[in-house]
Amino acid sequence: MDQNRTRIIPCPACGKMTQYGKNPYRPFCSRACKGVDFIRWTDGEYRIAKDDQDEDSSAMRERE
Ligand SMILES: [Zn+2]
Repeated sequence: MDQNRTRIIPCPACGKMTQYGKNPYRPFCSRACKGVDFIRWTDGEYRIAKDDQDEDSSAMRERE
């Protein structure tokens, strides 16, 4: 049953296999990856908010 405690999961940021149980930055492999994911999330929210205010967004959608 020790395998449950030392569960190995892929880091959501870089995909590297990392221990879940002992990792202070879980589910990430390191503090760097935790920071990367945080930046990605805030960047996404920023783009959504900006898209909402930008009237040119409809023109950009037609291009897709
Ligand atoms: Zn990582």
